[in-house]
Amino acid sequence: MAKRIAPGSHVFFSQEMADEVQERLGLSNALQQALKDQALELHFQPQLGVDDDRQLGLEALLRWHPPGGSPIPPAHFIPVAEETSLICDIGDWVLQQACARIQAWQAAGLQPGRVSVNISARHFHGPDFVTRLSALLQQYPAGRNRLTLEVTEGVILENLQESRARMSQIKALGVGLSIDDFGTGYSSFAYLRELPVDEIKLDRSFIQHIDKRPQDKAIIACLLELAAILKLTVVAEGVETEQQLASLAELGCPAYQGYLRARPMPEPQLMAWLAEQAPSSVRR
Ligand code: C2E
Ligand code: MG
Ligand code: MG
Ligand code: MG
Repeated sequence: MAKRIAPGSHVFFSQEMADEVQERLGLSNALQQALKDQALELHFQPQLGVDDDRQLGLEALLRWHPPGGSPIPPAHFIPVAEETSLICDIGDWVLQQACARIQAWQAAGLQPGRVSVNISARHFHGPDFVTRLSALLQQYPAGRNRLTLEVTEGVILENLQESRARMSQIKALGVGLSIDDFGTGYSSFAYLRELPVDEIKLDRSFIQHIDKRPQDKAIIACLLELAAILKLTVVAEGVETEQQLASLAELGCPAYQGYLRARPMPEPQLMAWLAEQAPSSVRR
């Protein structure tokens, strides 16, 4: 915002900046403590078939509810964690929790499909990411062929050569790879050709007006065609209305996530939700 700067106002601005640094530092310390205290939690949002609402998989989403306060959204605390190696500790915890749940569900005879976990750039590009992932899968063998990592285009394009090598190693562990928020970051999709990716997730910003804006519908149609050529599965994010779902069905989009049918939920609620699904709609 362009503002006329009054004499002496630089003092005000620098105080504002100092306050912000202080706030972020406070948040970072509190988050570090929450991780130590086991005060973070994973919620799970079902992924469903567009045509039949069959439950296909889950996305794990991090939740932080400080005691006595209100929940802090990941969009607020993840960027703070990403400023330091704290994101690696948090990411390791999320991966460990996800694999532990996958293993427990398998032992209980449940098969809620693949579980997707969001991975930040600093974590993904960390020197021993693949080694630690491999060790984790030795600890939780059920995670093999059931875990998928979601990364954004930005994460990959930060270092394409290195990303390609790393992604091949991850694939070799039996872990899936998905491109999150697809279409929001870069205009060239050529990089997809060269990477061992399994899935793209269409960003909510394309889905939001799909039933009203022909341009958005056309973009989705193109992305679906691209995915078909590259043999990638597609998940549409943020489906909130029947009209949006109908448009996706018309375009032949296979899978979706959204508040329309299922919000992210804690594990006990997820178990109840899965049990409520028609037997034919739950993969056994
Ligand atoms: P994302 O990975 O793109 O996750 C999708 C977000 O959309 C989630 O927000 C989800 O709750 C929300 N969502 C799902 N369906 C709908 C819908 O129908 N309408 C609307 N308006 N929103 C919907 P959430 O949980 O607040 O997470 C926000 C972002 O924070 C995620 O975006 C992801 O980038 C990041 N994030 C969340 N958990 C983790 C994590 O464990 N690790 C990392 N590195 N990032 C995470
Ligand atoms: Mg995601
Ligand atoms: Mg996304
Ligand atoms: Mg998103």
